[in-house]
Amino acid sequence: MSIIKLKNVSKFYYSKGVITSGFSKINLSFDMGEFVAITGESGSGKSTLLNVISGLDSYDEGEMYINGEETSHYTEKDFEDYRRKYVGNIFQNFNLVNSYTVYQNVELVLLLNGKSKKESKKEVLDLLKKVDLYKFRNTKVSKLSGGQKQRVAIARALAKDTPIIIADEPTGNLDSRSAKGVIKLLNEISKYKLVIVVTHNFEQVEEYVTRKIKMHDGRILEDKKIKDIESIEDKANQTYKNITTINKFKLGIRNAFNIIPKFVLIMLVYLFITVSIISEYATFKEQEYIESKSGNNYVFNNNSDKRIIIKNNNTPFNEKDYENITSLDNVDYIIKNDLLLDTKINITDNENYWINGSVNNIENFKDKVDIGRLPKSSNEIIAETNIDDYYLNDQAEDILNKTLYIQNLYTAEIKKSSPIKIVGIKYKKSIQDYGTIFYMSEELIDKFALELSQIYSDINILFKDKYIDNHIISNEKVPKGETYISNDLSYQCKNENCSDEHILIETLNIYTKENLDLKITKMYNKQNMQSLLDISDFDENNGNIYINPDDYNNLFNKENYQISVFVKDPLKLENTISALKNMNYQTLALKDTLVSSSIVQALKILKTTVTIILCIVLFFISYFVIKVILKSRNKYFSTIRMLGATKKISKQLLIIELLTVSNLAFFSFMLVIYLNSINIINIKFIHTILTYLKFSDYLLLYIILIMMSYLISQKFSKKLFKNSAMSTLREEI
Ligand code: ADP
Ligand code: MG
Repeated sequence: MSIIKLKNVSKFYYSKGVITSGFSKINLSFDMGEFVAITGESGSGKSTLLNVISGLDSYDEGEMYINGEETSHYTEKDFEDYRRKYVGNIFQNFNLVNSYTVYQNVELVLLLNGKSKKESKKEVLDLLKKVDLYKFRNTKVSKLSGGQKQRVAIARALAKDTPIIIADEPTGNLDSRSAKGVIKLLNEISKYKLVIVVTHNFEQVEEYVTRKIKMHDGRILEDKKIKDIESIEDKANQTYKNITTINKFKLGIRNAFNIIPKFVLIMLVYLFITVSIISEYATFKEQEYIESKSGNNYVFNNNSDKRIIIKNNNTPFNEKDYENITSLDNVDYIIKNDLLLDTKINITDNENYWINGSVNNIENFKDKVDIGRLPKSSNEIIAETNIDDYYLNDQAEDILNKTLYIQNLYTAEIKKSSPIKIVGIKYKKSIQDYGTIFYMSEELIDKFALELSQIYSDINILFKDKYIDNHIISNEKVPKGETYISNDLSYQCKNENCSDEHILIETLNIYTKENLDLKITKMYNKQNMQSLLDISDFDENNGNIYINPDDYNNLFNKENYQISVFVKDPLKLENTISALKNMNYQTLALKDTLVSSSIVQALKILKTTVTIILCIVLFFISYFVIKVILKSRNKYFSTIRMLGATKKISKQLLIIELLTVSNLAFFSFMLVIYLNSINIINIKFIHTILTYLKFSDYLLLYIILIMMSYLISQKFSKKLFKNSAMSTLREEI
């Protein structure tokens, strides 16, 4: 039975409404062992015939049988299978992979047909010996002569080990000596295959071929047997396997680096995408962050983005709480009396200077001072202020030497008996500016805490069955359980003597209620005020109710029901908040209390839109650039399809190739970022990336990039493989 049989087969070409005949009413049959030469002038239909026999092209009329099977119902996939099983092609211009070595070209066929690299090795080397190219096995194909190239193509066709070898003018580009070598080789092969050769030059093949077919104008002019063939065994029932996954990756990766200029260009494109997307994203995050901490609220004075206010279910915080909270990763410090943060105090010499600012604990001052020194005693403080503060910059030297006082928050009194000193000044120039901060000892802070507590408490003073609204002031001269009141109140008492009468004080704030019953033991007047209470300015202070500091403390209980936590890294604020929530505290991040204007909101939407559009534009730019670069790969992919790779496998190879480069680009940039983070290199715009991106952001960006390069390969391969491999090949022939 003939392996190929054509019965009245015709092929027409339709182009621009014109029908041309490729060949018509051809009747031919071919057997294994034949070495057939097809001759005829140019345009006589030889190539068309070979393409139809190879399954590269369809026919329009008649019947073609493969191994006795009629093929009119064959789909493209059936012909793909047929080619893989039956046909090895050799072309006039070789269709080798020029960037591969001789060895790799032959090996490629074996890998595509499911062999391992190890299995392939002996076979490839044997074949190279057979075509006398062993010496050149590691030479790039582009460096070979035409004759050598064609011998590689033959070795490759042999490696595919199909029963039919079809060669379209294999010697067309060769000098006569090389041509002779190629024909001899084909002759040898034909002993156990069917070899069909198209040639212009019949004399060259005459002494080897078993049959001559001459074509003219699409018809057979002559079909002549030249010599007998030895009958050989039918190898028609070949099986084939697909390329293994590991080799798919090896090939894809090899292709990524194979052609250096192509690799460099694609790498540049991916680097461009990677760098622009990552930095754009970082800028976006930066903007988002800056916006998140801008804005205003009317409740808090300290709007630091590092601050979280926490409460403990209306119970006071204890040492254990403080310990647990401070041990959290990102927690920098705790401010126990956090009302202080939102209260401004005045520090003054009661003459020239009135410096307004908020209070912080000296323990939280971790910088160096710019002028002056650190405090040595509990009444020495440090001021941290904006670089262009009028008092604390221009008149700093003067202020450092002044005796100053803190104005009482509650009474506005300036108490000369407890002087303080600003001993050091720190200038800051950060964009976020909360005004001046006074860092002071715990002792001083506690005083404010009491004064503050007084401001935030409702105080009811019951004296002689009446409520009075005099100030309550702590004074060390008053014994515990007693109180000194102004003589002015004595008219209400019997005989104007209030001694042994009682005053009832009740304090209420949001968390607590305290009651205190004090016995009036002394009454002060202008004359005795200094000796009784150590207070000189009677007019200023007359009317106040003086009590013992311990009693005062009990009234304005200093247990903390609300504290503020300051974090080290405001970008990790959310983590700290969830950790605190897990510890069952109620939290309020200061930055969430800020309200930004609607213009800011609109700008934000605009920016997001711009970012998205930018990503889309980037995608298309890269797609078109990569498309142009990959155009040169058309030939490669047609070649491997001709060698037995399916559409799907070719596509996967392309995807692996592009993913290799995109990964390389991504991780190179990651390396640059890393080197920046450990200060080996120092690139400014990378600082933004380092500051604002977290691991999850990198992961997200990585996925976006990989998806983009996957989409690019997907889109490109669709285009590449839309035309059958053979029409792409034909254009090249
Ligand atoms: P040969 O290989 O013998 O030189 P071909 O098989 O290439 O001849 O061409 C046979 C005929 O078919 C010619 O008339 C040629 O113009 C025509 N032909 C070949 N390929 C195409 C094609 N792709 N489109 C239209 N006509 C074609
Ligand atoms: Mg031709």
